[in-house]
Amino acid sequence: MSSASTSSAGADLAVVGAGIIGLATAHRYLADHPGHRVVICEAEERPALHQTGRNSGVLHSGVYYRPGSAKASLAVAGRSSMVEFCRERGIAHELCGKVIVAVDSTEQARLAALYERAASNGVAAELIDARRLAELEPYCAGVEALFIPSTGIVDYSAVCRALIDEITAAGGELRTGTAVVGLAPAADRVRITTTSGDLEAAWLVNCAGLRCDQVAALAGAADGYRIVPFRGEYYELVPERSHLVNNLIYPVPDPSFPFLGVHLTRMIDGTIHAGPNAVLALAREGYRWGDISRAQLREHVTNRGLWRLARRYWRTGAGEVWRSLNKAAFTRALQRLVPDIEADDLVPSPAGVRAQAMDPAGELEDDFAVTVASRSTHVLNAPSPAATSSLEIARMIVDRIDG
Ligand SMILES: Cc1cc2nc3c(=O)[nH]c(=O)nc-3n(C[C@H](O)[C@H](O)[C@H](O)COP(=O)(O)OP(=O)(O)OC[C@H]3O[C@@H](n4cnc5c(N)ncnc54)[C@H](O)[C@@H]3O)c2cc1C
Repeated sequence: MSSASTSSAGADLAVVGAGIIGLATAHRYLADHPGHRVVICEAEERPALHQTGRNSGVLHSGVYYRPGSAKASLAVAGRSSMVEFCRERGIAHELCGKVIVAVDSTEQARLAALYERAASNGVAAELIDARRLAELEPYCAGVEALFIPSTGIVDYSAVCRALIDEITAAGGELRTGTAVVGLAPAADRVRITTTSGDLEAAWLVNCAGLRCDQVAALAGAADGYRIVPFRGEYYELVPERSHLVNNLIYPVPDPSFPFLGVHLTRMIDGTIHAGPNAVLALAREGYRWGDISRAQLREHVTNRGLWRLARRYWRTGAGEVWRSLNKAAFTRALQRLVPDIEADDLVPSPAGVRAQAMDPAGELEDDFAVTVASRSTHVLNAPSPAATSSLEIARMIVDRIDG
């Protein structure tokens, strides 16, 4: 990207999306290029309304991810950077640790594999027996568990508020109610059409989350990737039953499925959330079954990769839908971890929708995916643990702009 500041009408950098990735990118860029002009275009009236404001608030330590993957390295580095960011600014967070719990011998074998993976990723973890598990989580049932002390909790919306304060103090501009609807890359800049006027920038970074593939397509840079939205529904434990969970209790994940399975999470405000499950959403921002977009339905029906996936994982998928529609089934999934939880202990809590990319071969993309095109960078896959990793994802994006 050109290092000189552009004309008064143009920005040095335009960022699409004021979720945590877009904000972290603008923040990193201004830290590296003081005095440059940065404009963030956000479609909604407020920042962080989608994935960033609707997640589990976990600072992941990096146990699950394939060694050598971007997720593994950026989760480990990103957790440390995020903790430092919060410490320096007095943002509430807590390194409370988590347990991944095996309830039978089959799961014990998978737990042992996870233990190896944690070691490969440089994450400290301890295999603990049922007695030690009972000390950490007295109401949790399990024959063995993996204890990861470095996992933590934070409110990512609070992180975003701090990022915005510092971006605006450094001269950056956040334009809300400004959806990007057209991109025209030229030799030395990109022309950007938005719902509230046009602008030009020397470089553009697309961090549009659930709509990143659509924004990338405006620049001809989607690379065959498309977003498949998966809703994650939550319940919350009623306050009088929140003593059933101290910190974070996770199941051993099903290795054939890209999500972690419903778990119990203490949020930074002290409430205990149960979830998220994973059901195919019928709209990009499909937070309820009733949120249906015809365009999205068409996309699902014509997506061959999705049909293949449905054939391969129909049993798991059907289970997720059943748990979505049936509270008793959701409760039973939680009772595998904490048998004392009853359906009456649970009240619905707002859902989130994951932006999960499908690659050109029709497989769910397992790793983060970022592509660089003419005058622009496109974040094409940034699901969990991308909030944890956001400051390091931003560093990687900005370094590549400089390169
Ligand atoms: C249920 C759930 C639980 C999760 N739990 C965790 C967790 O515990 N820990 C963790 O690390 N990660 C977690 N994640 C993942 C994490 O929340 C996301 O990886 C992260 O928030 C992605 O940030 P983002 O900025 O890419 O996307 P988003 O936060 O979705 O932001 C994208 C922004 O782009 C805007 N936008 C879209 N289109 C346009 C356009 N055309 N013009 C302008 N703006 C546009 C949107 O309005 C939105 O504000 C979870 C995600 C979900 C859904």
